[in-house]
Amino acid sequence: MLPADIRDLDANDPLATYRDHFIVPDDLIYLDGNSLGALPRTTPRAVQEIVEDEWGRDLIAGWNSHGWYEASDRLALLLAPVIGAEASEIAVCDSISVNLFKLIAGALSLRPERRVILADRSNFPTDLYIAQGIARLLGVELRLHDSVEAMANAIDHNTALIMASHVDFKTGLIHDMAGITARAHELGALALWDLAHSAGALPVTLNAAQADMAVGCTYKYLNGGPGAPAFLFVAQRHHRLVQQPISGWFGHESPFAFETEFRPTSGIRRFLAGTPPMLAMRALQCGLEIAAEAPLDAIRNKSIALSSLFLELFEARLAGHGFTLASPRDPAIRGSQISFAHEQGYAIMQALIAHGVVGDFRAPDIMRFGFTPLYLRFADITEAVERLVRIMDEGIWREPRFHQRATVT
Ligand SMILES: *Cc1c(COP(=O)(O)O)cnc(C)c1O
Repeated sequence: MLPADIRDLDANDPLATYRDHFIVPDDLIYLDGNSLGALPRTTPRAVQEIVEDEWGRDLIAGWNSHGWYEASDRLALLLAPVIGAEASEIAVCDSISVNLFKLIAGALSLRPERRVILADRSNFPTDLYIAQGIARLLGVELRLHDSVEAMANAIDHNTALIMASHVDFKTGLIHDMAGITARAHELGALALWDLAHSAGALPVTLNAAQADMAVGCTYKYLNGGPGAPAFLFVAQRHHRLVQQPISGWFGHESPFAFETEFRPTSGIRRFLAGTPPMLAMRALQCGLEIAAEAPLDAIRNKSIALSSLFLELFEARLAGHGFTLASPRDPAIRGSQISFAHEQGYAIMQALIAHGVVGDFRAPDIMRFGFTPLYLRFADITEAVERLVRIMDEGIWREPRFHQRATVT
């Protein structure tokens, strides 16, 4: 592609102005918004305000006078259109890991006569670890399959729950949420989806897909900040019967009655546990305000255009360097990332980061490049590939400093 064509793509980009909603260092090409999203321009001020004006000045009164108590409900309203659910079905709280614990146990409470959870080995490790913990705790069986398809084919009348990621974190493969959920329902099982790599990156339609439950994080494509509170979704039809084991006072019908017995409140708030981190909730609100406003179809179109351009240039310029595509070639089943496998992937990624292009590495050999349409330009894609070409052609990645492993990759 000619430089003029790239300039045209950026000039005609309907999302171009969204880059100004974020603070992105000028000299950095950030292809890791799928791990930690960028800083919204409104966040520093909003956090400063809640610290100084609300906490600093009003102290405990803030729970009433600044609506801290309702923060989950307020954020749920912003998130609802992004994931295709009603706000009354969403709670914003805790981490994906903790919310998975609540929901897996909750699903088992809805299918007490069934003793099997199905999952697939390609799911994110914490999802599997939490399921393992619950299986041990409750004496149910966790059966792992090699792929989501194999898992879907194994559903039977003993299956209480299937769980999977909507978009695979390593390869970016999009799974058929509606089809697999329908298969689970035919056999009386429930479906729990992890939206970590789809919420904010592509249109998600939980209710149209009839999903029973979902979790997701907000520090990736939703730009809530490192460790931002996660969310959970439970379809309205389950609210009457579902129970969750972390029965904390924020899920009580009347927390400030200080009763001895736990009585769950009626709606989604029964999935809250303890006092929410208000500073983090405020930072998250800034990210969600952008997500609620940005048109998801335009995000998806640009995501496909960015990843397709990257793939085209990558394959044209880097053939013969030992990279193997690890993502679907068909953009219709590809999330907002491209992954390549390379046996020196770690060192190559370190060299690339040192040259101002940030992607990440997932063991054993996957180099991940994430595309965040709200703040990436097409020119960033061409420049990223050019820098990688130099690193490969000149063997820069061979330098010893690029082979030392850090704790977080
Ligand atoms: C990022 C991610 C997580 C992270 O879980 P936390 O509890 O927020 O640390 C979980 N699952 C998937 C699929 C992820 O991509």
